[in-house]
Amino acid sequence: MDDNTLYGEILEEAYATGIGRTPVLPVSYPNGEIFAKMEWFNQFRSVKDRAAFFMLKSAEKTGVLTKDKRIIEASSGNTGIAIANIARLLGYHAELYVPASSSPETIARLKETGNAIIEVEDENSRRGKINIDASIRRLKERISEDPARFVNFDQYSNRANTLGHFYSTGPEITSVLDKITHVVVGIGTGGTVTGLAKYFKTFYPWVKIVAAEPSADHHIQGLKNLSVSAVPDLIRENRSLIDSWITVDDSDAREGVKELMELKSVIVGFSSGANFMACRKLMAEEPGSRILTIFPDSAEKYRSVYTSTGVIREEVFDTLSANINTVPDDAILCDFSDP
Ligand code: PMP
Repeated sequence: MDDNTLYGEILEEAYATGIGRTPVLPVSYPNGEIFAKMEWFNQFRSVKDRAAFFMLKSAEKTGVLTKDKRIIEASSGNTGIAIANIARLLGYHAELYVPASSSPETIARLKETGNAIIEVEDENSRRGKINIDASIRRLKERISEDPARFVNFDQYSNRANTLGHFYSTGPEITSVLDKITHVVVGIGTGGTVTGLAKYFKTFYPWVKIVAAEPSADHHIQGLKNLSVSAVPDLIRENRSLIDSWITVDDSDAREGVKELMELKSVIVGFSSGANFMACRKLMAEEPGSRILTIFPDSAEKYRSVYTSTGVIREEVFDTLSANINTVPDDAILCDFSDP
């Protein structure tokens, strides 16, 4: 089966499962506009639903994944949540290796799915830093015990992670927005940035692709600094599609979360705050830009982190989170039947 047929089928199944077609939040400034895909409107509440669904379904359709196998993956949160839920939905078992420093809400959500969740401690997690490398080492040890039993999607090198965005996120964006000048996206596995880069370079090559990289000492769940963490194969292989890089740190992420709360009454995850501030920095350098970004998840898994570090007061958090599933009035909808 060629890619267009295989991924076209998966795309239809993703939409039927409630994955994709997320709304876009517009944020206007005198010197430009930002448009953000609100990815917590996916079925299992983050951008990683797309990658997980496309990886699992392509493994199933190509005969790699069968019901007698066990899915095994390392994730700092959202991929794990997506895989665990989609596996359960489709009748598979999953075993997930997670840094012990991931938020307590993330770990609770993983455990709720009834799959095997292994929290991995290392030097980083003891210092409150989230680094996936120790979890990946544990996963490899486990696979080596019985290689035939496990299917590891390896989201860092799996082209379905990139192609999920090429076939879903990209077309959804251009079906509702025109004259985009830049796409600005933070890097975790690199699936989102490489998928959107491939899409825009193919169909809208004048759009600049900007990667937002967190500083080496960051605590932004879901993002990776490439000098202290292993460089994902997806990035290594597609680096030439990225036109420029912007660095973001914890204080940018916090500021972004606060600004969005004040301006738009939405409470987003740290990486969304980081992406948003990367857009603001770019806009300051290039006035008049129309920038597309991604808000990978909402604040719902970060209540304890946000309230204990003073990002958001508890009362404010609880008031705003009551509306977390309401699409903002000014959002641009993508929930039409044929994008
Ligand atoms: N933000 C969050 C909250 C995430 O969970 C992830 C996934 N690791 C990302 C950003 C980065 O996305 P990607 O893996 O597609 O680079």
